[in-house]
Amino acid sequence: MKSEADRYHGRVLVTGAGGFIGHHLVKFLKSKGLWVRGVDIKKPEYEPSPADEFLVQDLRVPENCQQSVRGVRDVYQLAADMGGIGYITRNFASLSRNNVLINANMLEASHLEGVDRYLYSSSACVYPSFLQHAESVKGLREQDAIPADPEKGYGWEKLFAEQLTTYYGEDHGLGVHVVRLHNVYGPLGAYEGGREKAPAAICRKVAEAEEGSAIEVWGDGEQTRSFCYVGDCVDGLSRIMESDDAKPINLGTEELVTINELVELVCGIAGKHLRKQYDVSQPQGVRARNSDNSRLRKVLNWEPKTRLEDGLKRTYPWIWSRLDKTGTAKPPRPKEALGPPIPR
Ligand code: NAD
Repeated sequence: MKSEADRYHGRVLVTGAGGFIGHHLVKFLKSKGLWVRGVDIKKPEYEPSPADEFLVQDLRVPENCQQSVRGVRDVYQLAADMGGIGYITRNFASLSRNNVLINANMLEASHLEGVDRYLYSSSACVYPSFLQHAESVKGLREQDAIPADPEKGYGWEKLFAEQLTTYYGEDHGLGVHVVRLHNVYGPLGAYEGGREKAPAAICRKVAEAEEGSAIEVWGDGEQTRSFCYVGDCVDGLSRIMESDDAKPINLGTEELVTINELVELVCGIAGKHLRKQYDVSQPQGVRARNSDNSRLRKVLNWEPKTRLEDGLKRTYPWIWSRLDKTGTAKPPRPKEALGPPIPR
């Protein structure tokens, strides 16, 4: 007789499938020939989901989680109430509550329904802020997360959800993976409305700016980050799911840039010369943050390869063409996307 795992081989659930990374992940897994169920509280905004089945469900409700995981072998848990730094620093209580409920209910449902493998999408926001004050930052290693001092609200919840995921592995034999994502960007992601992250926000501001004008930059622009192209991110998530590794693992790049450098890259791609107007009253998050990919390289013999400039060459034209439809994009019209293709 077939085991449960054999029976459900190739059947995968992606939660957060109406969101940025989840939607790309569904496309990626479909391209690998898997049967995919997507679940989200909303459908993808910019194009239809290629999922075999798409459930619109609120995953704060236990019964909805149980219905969502029924009959699948693997769960990619990407659903979360989240957004850019402005959003996560304005909604501590509601965001933490929503994510606590989603994560606790998804784990219990996966245990009850006999799921084989469970991947939790955590974040670099779990790392202690006391390690991220200096601009000359060292890459963050997985073991640096505890003793803890994570991002208020969003980061604390992620850190506890990592622990909870680990306990379900230890106590119930769930095959868990915990992945710490570092600033993912690319086409088909939020670029306005407050949930957008820095690369999309900068692309939007540059696209809407007249040649020679100024754009607003939050902080003094000298804060640093590394950014991971979404095509690499979904590839990495699937590789980690296939690995035997159960401990937290970084998924990002080590290409550290200042926000000023990010702006210059986007201006170069856009063919615009713009001034920067700094607003230091806006939230900026930690001063400096980079990934240390040593463990990722060791476990997977792989790491994200897309250079930031190449990823932005795909992201900027997409955002510009979206804004062009509403009449707010300013010339010049960007050339066709030049960067590497998003895995399909
Ligand atoms: P996203 O906001 O685009 O996607 C999250 C999705 O979860 C959304 O579509 C949202 O509707 C859905 N969701 C929220 N509440 C829900 C609920 N109650 N029931 C069902 N669905 C619900 O964000 P994303 O960038 O695609 O991020 C995916 C995951 O990766 C999240 O867990 C996020 O915390 C994590 N992450 C992302 C980044 C990044 O840079 N994008 C960095 C670190 C971690």
